[in-house]
Amino acid sequence: MHLYDLTIHEARKLLDAGEISAAELTQAVIDRILAVDNAVKAYLTLTPEEALEQARAADAARREGRSSPLLGIPVAIKDIICTAGIPTTCGSRILENFIPPYDATAVARLKAAGAVILGKTNTDEFAMGSSTENSAFFPTHNPWDLTRVPGGSSGGSAAAVAAGECLGALGTDTGGSVRQPAAFCGIVGLKPTYGRVSRYGLVAFASSLDQIGVMTKDVTDAAIMLGVIAGHDPLDSTSLDVPVPDYTAALTGDIRGMRVGVPKEYFIPGMQPEVEDAVRTALEVLADLGAEILEISLPHTDYALPVYYLIAPAEASANLARYDGVRYGLRVVGDSLEDTYKQTRGHGFGPEVKRRIMLGTYALSAGYYDAYYLKAQKVRTLIKGDFDRAFEQVDVIVAPTTPTTAFRIGEKVDDPIQMYLSDVFTLSMNLAGICGLSLPCGFDSQGLPIGMQVMGPALGEMAVLRVAYAYEQATDWHTRRPPIRSAGR
Ligand code: GLN
Repeated sequence: MHLYDLTIHEARKLLDAGEISAAELTQAVIDRILAVDNAVKAYLTLTPEEALEQARAADAARREGRSSPLLGIPVAIKDIICTAGIPTTCGSRILENFIPPYDATAVARLKAAGAVILGKTNTDEFAMGSSTENSAFFPTHNPWDLTRVPGGSSGGSAAAVAAGECLGALGTDTGGSVRQPAAFCGIVGLKPTYGRVSRYGLVAFASSLDQIGVMTKDVTDAAIMLGVIAGHDPLDSTSLDVPVPDYTAALTGDIRGMRVGVPKEYFIPGMQPEVEDAVRTALEVLADLGAEILEISLPHTDYALPVYYLIAPAEASANLARYDGVRYGLRVVGDSLEDTYKQTRGHGFGPEVKRRIMLGTYALSAGYYDAYYLKAQKVRTLIKGDFDRAFEQVDVIVAPTTPTTAFRIGEKVDDPIQMYLSDVFTLSMNLAGICGLSLPCGFDSQGLPIGMQVMGPALGEMAVLRVAYAYEQATDWHTRRPPIRSAGR
């Protein structure tokens, strides 16, 4: 077993027992990055010197008797989350040289817990995408098959976790960007309830949907990382002022009597049959563990995609108005102030971001606002109502995370609708503000991971983690590691 293959909780045991040091662990992960990242391309920025310094500080703290779950654990941060003194590009040319003067609250909490920050991971530009192919710099490759995408937009974080290039990572999920790449890369991805984790220092894409989540090798690690980053933050007025439970207390393995809903709308014609089979088999495992499986209906599911692609671009068009080349980021000087704005934005944003800005501006413009944006908000309420009613009957909802396994690099880049469709099963949860976790539940005939989603009501992370952990412990999917096959094969 290599040190870079350890989970966070396994590494902590070895660190606490003095069998390994954080410096050794961090060096092993850095060596792993140097060995495989030219093929995987998970990282945009690496900070090895700072990481080793933080690791040595963690070792010193441990010698003085301190111990905490993340002390000395090397982690990665999606490059849309601000890190003081370290570039934060959002995968965009417009912020290529942006170095934030402050840390996001989630990053500050990781640091305060003693975590070691390895660097910043690749993302679709401003988190708009499902494959990392919209990164302005380069696409990330799926460690299970380097000719395929890792999913997105947190594809860099997912690939890094899967390939042993970090022990855990932060991602962000506006419409599925933590869960979908987790499914494609065979890892665990948890999107917390809207407001559970502070968004302070998370560069805004769609503010009513964005949430920072955790990406890990197993469910225990997700519970540990969430416990560190969750909680109220006076710097984010949408963060919830409710106590953070001990999420690891949910990891009992006992789900007897829990009610699991299976939404019939999440098994659609055209989905990959192996995905459906794997999830149905997983439901049998849950039944064997004593859960009660109930068919439910979320009748407005079909509207989630069109509603999301009105609301998210509308919010994005407003949020991205700040990139004008005046205060920070790229500036391309034109003939006049207006021309400078045009040149800067014209050169700074990629095609998908421009498409969203146009869609959003149109949906918000006078004369169309009622027909598009306002209508979408009303349907959003109906979608939330579906979940409210479902959670009166069941404790959690289980469904596939994605309709297919990882697709090939290049396969969907010219067809935005096909790309958008890879999120059909994840978008609703962001619209409803609830929580969800994707975990591995099998492999297809190509050897690609399949993900299953466990959804819970607002602040229902404990129930989600409980069910996910019980399933995980009854199976061994989470113990598999990718062979990192080369692209030329
Ligand atoms: N893929 C979706 C989009 O392109 C979701 C992205 C996300 O969750 N950040 O908007």
